[in-house]
Amino acid sequence: MADKLIYEGKAKKIFQTDKADQVLMEFKDSLTAFNALKKGEFQGKGELNCQISTLIFHWLSQNGIKHHWIATRDKNKMLVEKTEIIPLEVVVRNFMAGSLAKKLGQTEGLKLKNPIVEFYFKKDELNDPFVNDDQITALGWADQKTLDLLKAEALNINSVLQKLFQKIDLKLIDFKTEFGRNQKGAIILSDEISPDCMRLWDEKTNRKLDKDRFRQDLGEVAESYQEVFQRIEKGVRL
Ligand code: C5P
Repeated sequence: MADKLIYEGKAKKIFQTDKADQVLMEFKDSLTAFNALKKGEFQGKGELNCQISTLIFHWLSQNGIKHHWIATRDKNKMLVEKTEIIPLEVVVRNFMAGSLAKKLGQTEGLKLKNPIVEFYFKKDELNDPFVNDDQITALGWADQKTLDLLKAEALNINSVLQKLFQKIDLKLIDFKTEFGRNQKGAIILSDEISPDCMRLWDEKTNRKLDKDRFRQDLGEVAESYQEVFQRIEKGVRL
């Protein structure tokens, strides 16, 4: 039986497989920013993000992090555990950049004294607004125990990712994760981990190698994603 399309987002399509607890995630070549107000694409982007995410999921597994990845198929498709997504984007920041720099009037690139974990409510119509713990628990999106677990897990992922990126001269400025409950009720890392949802700067030159190249019209977007892939491929072998 052919897999049935159950969801199409800005950068991915999700298909139900014939196993109730598994879905297929297809990575598209499209690139969007500012809640899809800016649109673009480059050939091979879906494949690159799928391959980068695959390498990162392997690295996370080796370091004891639980996630939804099962197998990678056809270069741009990933078989993953079906999870019920918690409607929160969990952002971790190590350096000042992006929306926080703008909000607080700070220069990008400042090393933060401690990593920051932030929650955003996943709602495109509202531009994914920042929400705090009390707002989340008051609305019943997650209880405090779950939020504490998400924070601890996000920080753990941050440490494990930094261990990889340090080997390949990349600064992990910040990243976004999503978590979901699998069929057994366990909360696991879901979605993708790619230059679409992380800021990565070259350690020595501070050259941006992530979606900011597209957001800020810096050029060489495809080349930068390709470079991140090649560096990570090297990093996981070192
Ligand atoms: O824009 P902001 O500084 O809040 O983004 C923090 C991090 O989260 C960045 O790495 C960005 O790429 C990622 N992010 C994302 N999806 C969003 C918002 C932010 O992947 N909807």
